[in-house]
This record gives sequence, structure tokens and C-alpha cells, in this order.
Amino acid sequence: MIRDHFRVLVVDLNTGRGSVALVDGRDSVAGGSGLAAHLFMKYGKPDRPWNDPEQPLIFAIGPLTGYFPLMSKTVCAFKSPYHDQYAESHGGGRSALSLRFADLDALVITGRATRPSCISVGSRHLEVKEVHYLWGKDLYTTGKMLRSMFKGAGHRSILRIGPAGENGSAFACINVDSYRHFGRLGGGTVMGSKNLKGIVINGDGSFPLNGSKEYPKLFQDVYTKLTDTDMMSKYHDIGTPINMAVLNEVKMLPIRNLQRTTDPGISEITGEKFAELALLRNAACAGCPVGCIHIGFVREKFHSDYQYLYRQVSYDHEPIFAVGSMLSVENCFAVLSIIDVAEKVGLDIMSAGVALAWATEATEKGLISEKETIISLSFGDSEAYKQALQHLGQATNEFYRLLGQGTLKAAERYGGKDYACVLGQEMAGYATGEVYFASQALGLRHSHLDSGGYSYDQKETGKDPAKAVDFLVKDEQGRVLLTSMVACLFARGVYSDALLADCLKSVGYGTLADTLGQVSKNIQHLRWKTRIATGYRPEDVTIPKRFLEITTGKGPMDGAYLSSLKEQYAKAIRGLAAPGAAEAAPAKKSGTS
Ligand code: SF4
Repeated sequence: MIRDHFRVLVVDLNTGRGSVALVDGRDSVAGGSGLAAHLFMKYGKPDRPWNDPEQPLIFAIGPLTGYFPLMSKTVCAFKSPYHDQYAESHGGGRSALSLRFADLDALVITGRATRPSCISVGSRHLEVKEVHYLWGKDLYTTGKMLRSMFKGAGHRSILRIGPAGENGSAFACINVDSYRHFGRLGGGTVMGSKNLKGIVINGDGSFPLNGSKEYPKLFQDVYTKLTDTDMMSKYHDIGTPINMAVLNEVKMLPIRNLQRTTDPGISEITGEKFAELALLRNAACAGCPVGCIHIGFVREKFHSDYQYLYRQVSYDHEPIFAVGSMLSVENCFAVLSIIDVAEKVGLDIMSAGVALAWATEATEKGLISEKETIISLSFGDSEAYKQALQHLGQATNEFYRLLGQGTLKAAERYGGKDYACVLGQEMAGYATGEVYFASQALGLRHSHLDSGGYSYDQKETGKDPAKAVDFLVKDEQGRVLLTSMVACLFARGVYSDALLADCLKSVGYGTLADTLGQVSKNIQHLRWKTRIATGYRPEDVTIPKRFLEITTGKGPMDGAYLSSLKEQYAKAIRGLAAPGAAEAAPAKKSGTS
């Protein structure tokens, strides 16, 4: 639905009621990331803690969702239990299309239900249903029950949490339609703190395609560009796990709690190996012809007489790195079985895997023992890691409860801060060098996708901190425009600013199309302003010693370069958040991505 404002459903769990708010700002914040920050500033309480019942949990989509392919992400925003500051996490599945067909640009949930509950929303309904019988259930059982309780199969999206979200873990994710996640920074625990076990979004409405004459042709052009390029083969065939072998080859893969950056044992957990042995099928987010979701299987014997059951488990580069290479688990089926456990308890696999890697090294160094970990942890022992993940998700004892608040929190208590692989949050699967380490450590989402620091490390040979920081700032400016359109970032090579402007014009967003340069600057400023308002101090970010101890294909890390990068990036962030920053900053050149 084309409109010059946002249509937002605000649900108050204190009362079980909701109302539709018409919110201005389409031509300044566009949608997605921009809209989420805009709504947090409207409904959020920057100076109150993350679990204050009045804090909002926000889901926002973009102006092109439902009109063009790969506009298939939803931006989830909240105050994070991980650092008690503003956070964004992005997920796909059917969530974005379901919101579009429910005639909503955003869903905002405030308050706390008195009993465990589930929300169902659609184009003409809102129901808050008491579901005490789902509390404590794992993600698989919860999904099965929600699917049978609510109608709308094929049009609905189901968001749900597992026990980790109920137990206050800062690693708890929100699962979306089984194979996608709002993974990072603890959105699952924000749901849990609201007594909210599930959200069913029913895309049960429809809307006219009242675009211009150019729209059908442009749609076809975009579709062809997305499916005719090497993007299809890159993401569809082997998918993101193709990075495992590539990074291992150039000595940039985090291995064994980042004690190494390359290892021959990785050959058993490459993308090629998964595709050859464990791949069952591909799946796609709604509205995406690429289908990068790779689904493998876990087989379990349930009876001695060769009786087996199997479960389907999605995999990507990041989960394979987190519970494969980081834990030295070198068998693809063992990796899938660990991912399966993390799914059941509802943990963000990246944070959980990196945390267990630290716990294993801390065990080796004698800082902790079975007294804390309950089971003996050693690199490569997948059975022990499956049990440890259960304990982490269930917060079985004080050690696991603390570890679930973040690896550095546990390291502060037990020691071993030097080798806690934390860059703002637990690291992502790239050990490319100083620019990437600075970019994840200081970036707004502490995500490898905040900006292309990992590719800068691989392409650039010089060490000019000012040039690198300039790249990070400009690259982020381009990415926030894409995430405000809610484009999947895998399409960033196709959706240039010029193409985005054409797409917007073709469906009737002419003003937005004409001012995209300024809009991306506004959004970048607004997001940083929001993060800073909730207490972020970029100059206080530290990078553990382990990141300086490694050698990549480019050579040993340079501590002085990393320090300068951090210092200059922190200053740049302060500048981006300052009043008037959006007007002062130079706009990224149109047409680049
Ligand atoms: S490329 Fe993958 S993550 Fe992106 S929209 Fe398509 S299926 Fe979803």
C-alpha cells in the first residue's frame, strides 16, 4: 500500500489491546532501519532499562516490500539485554511479506502480559491469547502447536522463542518460520520479558498494484538482474558456507577460539562438503527467487533396530564457523546436530558457539572445570557441546547464567578476558584483519554486515586509518539505505541507489526517490543518535588481546593500526550522532552500493 505516512499497529500487552497509529516521516526515514529508530525515539524510553515493560519491541518493513524481489527482511529493534542499549536485528522468512499483506508498515509491542501469551495480528484482527501451556516448550514443539492453533498457512509468519528467551539469556533469538532468525543481541529475551512466547502475523489482506506503466517492465528487469548474475550461483548453489574454504585458504577463518586462522581439518566442514553429504533442499524467504537457505538433516536412532528419525536444520557460513571451526568440530553432521540443539533451546548460534569456544579454552587453562561447566568441555567434542548448549539455554547454574549474559561478563568473573572473542558482541566468522575488527567492535549492530570492513581488509594493502574509517562511514551510509528498504544485503550489488530510486518512482514514492542521498544521511544520523541516547560510548570499546595475536594471509596484526582505527572510528561515530550531522555529511555517490 503506497502512503505518505506509516501505518503502525501498537499493541499494549498490559491491556491486551491495540490501536493503529499513523506516523509521519516516510520521506525522511523511508522504512526498515530508519523507521525502527524513528519508532524507538517515539515509543522507547532511552534512559530506562531494557526490561522496563514500557520498552517497545519493534518490527518494521520498507516501502518496496511486496513490490520488488528480495525486499524481504524485517528490522527488529529493541533495547538489548546484552548491553542495555538500542539494538537492531534483521530477519527474513515470511515476516516482511506477512506484515505487508496485513497492511502494516510496522508492529510495535509494549507492556508485559500477566500470563504467557501469544499475539495474532492480521489485516482485520488482533488477538492476544493466553498460552501458559507453551511456556518452557522448545522451539520445535512451540512451532508445531502455534501452526495448529492459528489458521492462515501459506500467508502467515510465525515468530517464536524457546527456553533461552524465557530464562533471560542475552543470546536468545527470535525464530522466524523455522529457518530464519532475529538472531543477535537478545531479542528473544525481550519477548520473554514481556511474557510473549509467539507472534503470528497473518498476511490475509490484499492491495491493488497501482504503480506506473513502467512498473511491470522494471520488475522484470530487476528480477532478471537478480537471477541472471553470478549472485544466483553464489548464494543458491553452495550458499554462504562457500566462505569456509575460501577464508581457510587465505588464513582468515577463526578456528579453535581464534587460536588459528587456517587448519586442514576444515576440509570436512566446507560448504562443498555440506552440499555433497548433508544438503536436503533449498528454501527461500517470501518474495525471493534466489533461495539461499540451505537445509540439511540430522538423523537420530530412536530404537536399536535401525529405526531413525530425522530433522531438517538450516545452515549458513556463520553457524558452521561458530560451532564448527571455532569449536574444532570437524564433521558436517556433528555440526548440524549442534545447530539443532541451539535451535531447540532458542539460542543465537553465533554468540553461543563463540561463548563455548572461550569456555573450552578457559577449561584447558584451568580457570574453570566441570564444577562450573557440569560436563567436561574439550575442542572437537560435539556431544559435550550439545549438552553445554542445553545448559546455556536453560541457564542451569550460575556459570551458564552468567555466560549467557555475554562471554566478557563470564570472563570478568572467572578470568580469561584476553581470549574472549568479543567485538561488541561475540565475533562473526571473519578474521580478516584490523579494519573488520574495528568495524564489528564499534559498529551499530556489532554485525559483520554493518559495513564491508571484511572486504576492505582483503582488498586494501595500505594502512591509512583515515581512509579506512571514511570507507566504513560511507559504506554504512549505503547499507542503511538498503536496510531501510529492507533489501536483503545479498542483493546489494544489484540494488544501486539509482535502481532503488527507479523502483520507488515506479510505485509512487517520487519524493523519496528524489532525495535518497539526504535520506540515507538522515537515517545514519538517526540510528547513531538513538544508540548514543541509550548510553553507547564508542570510545570505551575494547578489543581483546587475542585479536592481536593472530596472523592472517596478510601477516601479523598491527596493534598501532588497530588502535588508530578504533580511535578515529569512535570520533567519526560521535560526529555522525551530533546535531546537524545529517546536513553536514557528504552524501554517498548515487549508483554505488
Ligand atoms: S537471498 Fe537468502 S536471505 Fe536473502 S532474501 Fe533470498 S532467501 Fe532470504
